[in-house]
Amino acid sequence: QAESIWQVTARRMDGARIVIALRDTSELEAASAQRRDFVANVSHELRSPLTVLAGFIETLQGPAGDDPQTRTEFLGIMAEQAARMTGLVADLLSLSRVESVEKIRPRGMVALEGVIRATLAALRPQIENAGLTVTCDLPDMPEIPGDYDQLVQVYHNLIENALKYGASGGRVEITGQHIANMPGYDGAVLRLSIRDYGEGIEPIYIPRLTERFYRVDKARSRDSGGTGLGLAIVKHILGRHRGRLIIQSQPGQGARFDTILPCR
Ligand code: ADP
Repeated sequence: QAESIWQVTARRMDGARIVIALRDTSELEAASAQRRDFVANVSHELRSPLTVLAGFIETLQGPAGDDPQTRTEFLGIMAEQAARMTGLVADLLSLSRVESVEKIRPRGMVALEGVIRATLAALRPQIENAGLTVTCDLPDMPEIPGDYDQLVQVYHNLIENALKYGASGGRVEITGQHIANMPGYDGAVLRLSIRDYGEGIEPIYIPRLTERFYRVDKARSRDSGGTGLGLAIVKHILGRHRGRLIIQSQPGQGARFDTILPCR
């Protein structure tokens, strides 16, 4: 629980009467601290690739730039850094889009099976690169109210993570389940789980994974093109759909990310 910070204002009105207003500003303080952290994080994340780019440009402007082999190698690194910045900006835009429309309920009906097929098709090159087998066990599931593009983004982020962090496990399993009565939900839900057998996560880190920019291993995430925003986006989109994310993992035993989405 956040500590309360009281803002006190006293005003003297018509001679003897004094009005004292008490306002709890702890939430405002917390929101503004969060905003400051966020801006600091964004600046840091954008500055590191820019520093690398500036360094390489400077080198290429010198005599080293005349050597064709050095030029090819450096341009490759520069392209990678530019791609990293593009990825970060894309994730920031997604996050701000899903955050700004938090209150609007998604309209339209979506078939999750179609969402998964489309996501797997888009991720095909990464699947082949990771050398993983992806299996899908999706029973007949009813369509659910939702936003197709946003749901594609949820499963794209989760499956991409399974490919990045679960590569050592050989396989990724996607399973769907239609649950008629889920405690805490008014009616039926769809549970979709993405299971990998990779490095896994220490349980103490699990509650923080959906925080913006939180990464268990910053260097590892960055090397694989991660921004630390993927799971924050997933959590927001699921929230908009009145759903939630359940994460289970043990180090060395892989991880399982379950999405729960209501059927109506
Ligand atoms: P990133 O862009 O770093 O992948 P995410 O928000 O998607 O950011 O994930 C946050 C962190 O959670 C990752 O940096 C990683 O440490 C951890 N993580 C996510 N998915 C998995 C997974 N399937 N296995 C192990 N760790 C994971």
